[in-house]
Amino acid sequence: MSSILIFCRDCGKQVPSSQTKDGLCVDCRVRRSVAALRDEHARLWRKRERYRSQNANTEQIGRQIARVEDRMGQRIKELVSNDRLATDLLRKELEAARGQRYTIKGV
Ligand SMILES: [Zn+2]
Repeated sequence: MSSILIFCRDCGKQVPSSQTKDGLCVDCRVRRSVAALRDEHARLWRKRERYRSQNANTEQIGRQIARVEDRMGQRIKELVSNDRLATDLLRKELEAARGQRYTIKGV
């Protein structure tokens, strides 16, 4: 109720102090904690596209991608106690991760 607003030291957004940790808002904490997994996700995604273009079997890579996405979900759940918010954040992270391939592909 009486929580004060502070600026996230990463994105600069104003957030209630109760939702921050180490001066970071929940979005930034999530982004940081899944950064490595997102790189891994992007790597596997590119690999799968390469395999696909060669008509190779992508079943195993698909499973690896699913595992990375599961781990991202677990990380986020550890950081966010609110289930609905955690699901929301995971969706955003996955959209960003899956969207990354277009950026990379376009290079
Ligand atoms: Zn932030």
